[in-house]
Amino acid sequence: MYFGSVKFFKHLIYTVFFTWIAAATFLAVFFGFKYFSEKKNAEAVAASSFPGQIVIPDGASVEQIFLVMATKRYSSQDMLDVIKSGDEEIFAEYVKDYIAENPDIFNDGDNALSGAGTPFASSDEPYMELYPELYADNPPTAFKEDSGTIYLTFDDGPSDRTSDILEILDRYDIKATFFVCGGNGEKEQELMRQVAEAGHTIGIHSISHDYEKIYASVESYLDDFYETYMSVYNATGVKPQIFRFPGGSINNYNRFTYMQIIAEMTRRGFVYYDWNVSGEDAVKGADWTSIYNNIMSGIQRNTADRSIVLLHDSQSKENTVYVLEDVIDELLADGYKFDKLDNTVNPATFTYRD
Ligand code: ZN
Repeated sequence: MYFGSVKFFKHLIYTVFFTWIAAATFLAVFFGFKYFSEKKNAEAVAASSFPGQIVIPDGASVEQIFLVMATKRYSSQDMLDVIKSGDEEIFAEYVKDYIAENPDIFNDGDNALSGAGTPFASSDEPYMELYPELYADNPPTAFKEDSGTIYLTFDDGPSDRTSDILEILDRYDIKATFFVCGGNGEKEQELMRQVAEAGHTIGIHSISHDYEKIYASVESYLDDFYETYMSVYNATGVKPQIFRFPGGSINNYNRFTYMQIIAEMTRRGFVYYDWNVSGEDAVKGADWTSIYNNIMSGIQRNTADRSIVLLHDSQSKENTVYVLEDVIDELLADGYKFDKLDNTVNPATFTYRD
């Protein structure tokens, strides 16, 4: 009889033994791999500082490198590796053929990047397939010189303050930029129409403005972006080309997702703008004096060739409206000029500082 026999027990012991070895080996390999890949990711993120200001070759920006790589159908992971490396030689290695074929690529007036912003033939990330129409129409080929220019930007609108802001800008014949939260209500749609009709730039901010939600993954960022984008498009017929991350491109909520989100949005041809001057009008207790001083001292201290000034268009920020006229008067008297952002203005972008 087999069951209960010595042979049976032998087989049983062998079976149990080898199953155990196989399971232990599998678990060791699986968790070892998981541990090391997670560790590697965490280290890569911790060690990297997004080199937003690295300029290679011949004035190419990070955005341009992204765009060139997108036209050559590199994966977003390749792009991230290149950006993370911050290494001139690696940049050159990736883009050298393209530069050889298109020697003027990093000089302006050349449209060689027009292939950027088209979907990859084969995507390596599922989110690249999402919203196939969500691509910027005209990704920049070069950024312009704009020294001495002040770009007023208003986040979080439209709101009950929008009309007042528009009225002041109109009186001075100044164009500005509104990074909107959008909205599908009649009132929001009408206000966005007024912003567009007045000739200001509308950029995308976030319809939910919910940091935890939007920065959870590239997919959730895209969901929110698309909803905001469509509300702007429906209201104005304008397809926004630029955007601003809620909380800025690097914040406490997106440490592990910001590079993927930036790569994906840049692959789609959109340009993002942080700021290099802040009115601090959203901080608690901000009043006329503090906002005025923050803007004026921020512009004076700013070492960049242009000032991208963060302000807010929202119900609770009435002091922003009160200060606006005085700030414009003073800056015009000081010889500054104002303009709206478009995707050819060299962005201000945040970097991690270790
Ligand atoms: Zn905001």
